[in-house]
Amino acid sequence: MIDGNYGYWHPQEPPPPIEEALPLVEPITSAYNEVPVRISGRHIHISQQELDQLYGPGYKLTKYRNLDQPGQFAANETLTVVGPEGVIEDVRILGPLRDKTQVEISGTDGYHLGVEPPVRDSGDLSGTPGIVLVGPYGAVTLRKGVILAATHIHMNPSDAARTGLTNGDRVQVLVDGERDLIFNDVLVRVDKNFITEMHVDTDEANAAVIEDGSCVTIIGRVLLS
Ligand SMILES: [Zn+2]
Repeated sequence: MIDGNYGYWHPQEPPPPIEEALPLVEPITSAYNEVPVRISGRHIHISQQELDQLYGPGYKLTKYRNLDQPGQFAANETLTVVGPEGVIEDVRILGPLRDKTQVEISGTDGYHLGVEPPVRDSGDLSGTPGIVLVGPYGAVTLRKGVILAATHIHMNPSDAARTGLTNGDRVQVLVDGERDLIFNDVLVRVDKNFITEMHVDTDEANAAVIEDGSCVTIIGRVLLS
């Protein structure tokens, strides 16, 4: 545990041997293991039901700009996110509509709002905290749906084939930069509609000193974590 007053480390028991603490990894030797990074700012995926309540019945999202992933777009529409301890305005909605409304924020946003969302794969919302959304027409109290998005790589099937990866694999990713850092548990999602890129949130990008568009290296497939 960390002593809150002094920040000293007081181990209550000896740490496990290092080989038990680190994941078991099969190295990736493909020459095609470099992936560009996109930094995702806080955003909201929304269902028609909640859009109706926030922007008015039957409202349709309008496109601000296309995202890299085909079919995905940033909408002109934004919402105010209201937590128990803070408010964030102008949080952009991403389209197209989803079945369930999902609010993706950074850990830093969570401190500001006063919520502690877990790290989750997109769509896995059970047990996540709720939040209040406010739009120009009305407000919605979500009972769940706030997450820190798990670090993930979108990959098209040809890139997956030449790196030997399949949908659902977890990989180790090296950021070889100003502050070398290894992400140990990055989900690989393979779909023919994806272009290959890794998505991180702003806290992850800041921690690893990653710039949007820079490249990282997939160094291994996690066999056992
Ligand atoms: Zn993504």
